[in-house]
Amino acid sequence: MLIYVNGKLVPKEEATVSVFDHGFLYGDGIFEGIRVYDGNVFRLDEHIERLYESAQTIRLEIPMTLEELTQATLDTIAANGMRDAYIRLVISRGPGDLGIDPINCEKPTIIIICGSIALYSPELYGTGISIVTSSVPRIPVQCLDPRVKSLNYLNNIMAKIEGRQAGVPEALMLNIAGRVAECTADNIFMFKDGALETPDLLQGALGGITRASVLELAALAGIPATEGKLGLHDLYNADEVFLTGTGAEVMPVVKIDGRTIGDGKPGKMTLEMLERFRALRISDGVQVNYDTAATAER
Ligand code: PMP
Repeated sequence: MLIYVNGKLVPKEEATVSVFDHGFLYGDGIFEGIRVYDGNVFRLDEHIERLYESAQTIRLEIPMTLEELTQATLDTIAANGMRDAYIRLVISRGPGDLGIDPINCEKPTIIIICGSIALYSPELYGTGISIVTSSVPRIPVQCLDPRVKSLNYLNNIMAKIEGRQAGVPEALMLNIAGRVAECTADNIFMFKDGALETPDLLQGALGGITRASVLELAALAGIPATEGKLGLHDLYNADEVFLTGTGAEVMPVVKIDGRTIGDGKPGKMTLEMLERFRALRISDGVQVNYDTAATAER
């Protein structure tokens, strides 16, 4: 496995960062998770744009242009020769001193890992999953807008632990006003009377690339969709509920906090959306040129 570290492709064993890196010391940085499907990097441009938007908000200046970073990502995939992969792009404030002031962090650290993630097992798409509401709220927009995909995932991790303890694979997070925000690593949607609803991003959610794809697919299919405020009552009484994410894709939810959703099976409209997404994931994105592997080091 070759990993891109600050402009060089190095073997996994040599891919290290400084213990003084503020990404490690303070979670001061941002990241992206991107899927490659049969050589197609799904919505790469959208992921790179989201990364630059996160950087802008936390005042981190990425020392590469958008085009250079896109190319470095494609080169890393080509160098690893993987046609199906999960890419982790991480940019931290870089090495500094032990104080929190980033003034001494001279150069951001840029890492691109071409690997894989543990995905939901294929059977779960047939049965759907149960989720529970976590007692940990999503970080309020006033503190750190969750649209920033930052290296601070502690509250999501605590929610995830609660979910695991309850025996479910994903946990729902509310905002501090008690409205539905999102799950620990997925956005959430519901169908009611044929219409699609999802929390608007200011409820405290990441602007998911899969979420945006689903909203676009709904528009193409003529399904009415709204982004707004949702309470648990809305979800409990929905006809269908599903999650979206780079790892999850479109995952049906059949139980929330012990309440059965619909008839307790993955809903028809959800499964149709999953099919639409599966067609999109191989066609929409940037193709990797695997012949460039030899020149990948830059
Ligand atoms: N919310 C959170 C908190 C996430 O970390 C993610 C990414 N896994 C998502 C939603 C889904 O976003 P995307 O569709 O871009 O993967």
